[in-house]
Amino acid sequence: MEDIIRILHESNIPSVKVHLADLHLLMYADDIVILASNPIDLQNKINLVANYFCMNDLRVNLEKTKVVIFSNKNRGKRLEPKLFWGENEIEIVDKYKYLGVTFYSRINYNNITADFMTRGKVAETEVFSLFNKTKIRTFDSRLKLFDALVKSTLMYCSSIWGINNVKRFVTFQNEFLRKLFNLPRKTPVWFLRMETNCISIETTYIKNVLKFWSKIIMLPEDNLVKLCYKALKLRTNKKTMKHNWYRSLKNLLEQYDCEYVLENEPNVSNVQDVLKKLKEINTCISKIIEISKSRDICKMQQSTSMPFYQNIKTHYNKELYLNFNLSWSNIKIVLQLRANMSQIYNNHDNKVIKLLDLQNFYDDLTDSNCQCCNLSESENFYHLLFVCPRYKLLRQKYLPVSITMSQNNYLSYFNELTEERTRNINLFIKYALFSRDTVLNPII
Ligand SMILES: [Zn+2]
Repeated sequence: MEDIIRILHESNIPSVKVHLADLHLLMYADDIVILASNPIDLQNKINLVANYFCMNDLRVNLEKTKVVIFSNKNRGKRLEPKLFWGENEIEIVDKYKYLGVTFYSRINYNNITADFMTRGKVAETEVFSLFNKTKIRTFDSRLKLFDALVKSTLMYCSSIWGINNVKRFVTFQNEFLRKLFNLPRKTPVWFLRMETNCISIETTYIKNVLKFWSKIIMLPEDNLVKLCYKALKLRTNKKTMKHNWYRSLKNLLEQYDCEYVLENEPNVSNVQDVLKKLKEINTCISKIIEISKSRDICKMQQSTSMPFYQNIKTHYNKELYLNFNLSWSNIKIVLQLRANMSQIYNNHDNKVIKLLDLQNFYDDLTDSNCQCCNLSESENFYHLLFVCPRYKLLRQKYLPVSITMSQNNYLSYFNELTEERTRNINLFIKYALFSRDTVLNPII
C-alpha cells in the first residue's frame, strides 16, 4: 500500500498541509482516510485510489465509505458536491466513527464529549445493576468496578477531546457518588470527595493529559502527531483559531499555577534532560492533587449548608466504616447521616425518604415541622435522632448517649464508629422510619 502514497505525492494534486507535513492519506490497519481541501482535489484523489484498487485487485467496502465535509459554516444540502467511486456516488454524512471516536462535520469537541458522556452513563447503569445483583459489599470494590468499567469508557482518548470540557467529568463523578449513596442534588461535591477520599476526577484528567503530552514531546520531529502539536503550539495566541488544544492545556494548568511545566521541552537525545522533565511532571501532578484537596478543605470551612461537618472531619481520608463488612444499605445510611442532608434510604422498602426539612427546601409549600410530635421543630436528622419524643424508647435502646447531644455536636456520634454501633444506628433508623410512616401515612 506504500506506493499509493508515492503515486499521490507524484500526482500534482495539492496535499493538505499540517505544519511541515504534506498529507494525502491516513492509513490505519485496513482503514483509509483521504484528505483534501476541496471537492475537486478529493475527487481526483479518489479516482487515483480507485484506479490503484482496480489494478491491484483490491476491494473497497462502499457501504462504509463516506465523505465528511469539515467546516464551521452552515451549508445547504443543495450546495453539497457530488463525489463518486467509479460509477457509485459516495454518500455525504455529518459524522463518521473512526477508530472508536465519532468525528463531526462541525469541528468542535462538544459533540464528541456528549457522545462519551452517553457511553459513560450506559456503562454506569450496567455497573449499578452489577452492584445490586452481586451484593458487592465494600466501597473500595465498588470504586474499583467504576474505574475499570465506567471511567475507562468515559475517558477513552479524552486527553484530546475532553480538554475544554473537564467540568463535565467532574459533574459525572459527582453524580456517580451521589447516586451510590442516595444523596440529594444539593449535596456538595467537596463533601463526597473528602468523606471517601476520592480525588477530583479533574486531577486524574490532568494527570492523563500530562502523560499524553510527555509522550508527544518525546516523539521524533517528523512524526505526524508531533507536527500537529507543533502547529498548534505555534498558534497558541492566534485569536481567530477558536479551538487550540495546546492553548486549552495551558489554560487548564494555569488554574493550578502549573503552566511552567510546559516550558523547556527536553532534548530527546539527552537522557538526563528527559528524566528531569518526567520528574518535573510528577512533582507537578502531586502539587495539583494537593491544591485540589486544600480547595475542598477550604470549602468545608466556609460551608453554610454543612456547617458542622468540619467538627468531625479532621483529615482528608477515607472513613473506615465505608469498608465495614456490613450490607451496603447499612454503610450508606451512616454516610447519609454524616452528610446531614435529611435524605435517608429506607432499607425496609427500598425507598429514599426526604425528611420534611429537605422537602421544604425543594418545595416551599411544605411545612417542615415534625408531624410526629408537638414540639414545632423542623424535622431534620438532629430532631429525628436525638430530640423527637416519639422515638424515645428506640433511642434508649439503640442510640445510648453519655452527653447531651446538641445541633452542633451530634454528628460526633457518627465518628469513629464500630461495626456494632453502625448496626445499632441502622436498627434505630429502620424502626424510627417505620414508626414515622404510621403517622405520616396512616392506614385509614
Ligand atoms: Zn418530632
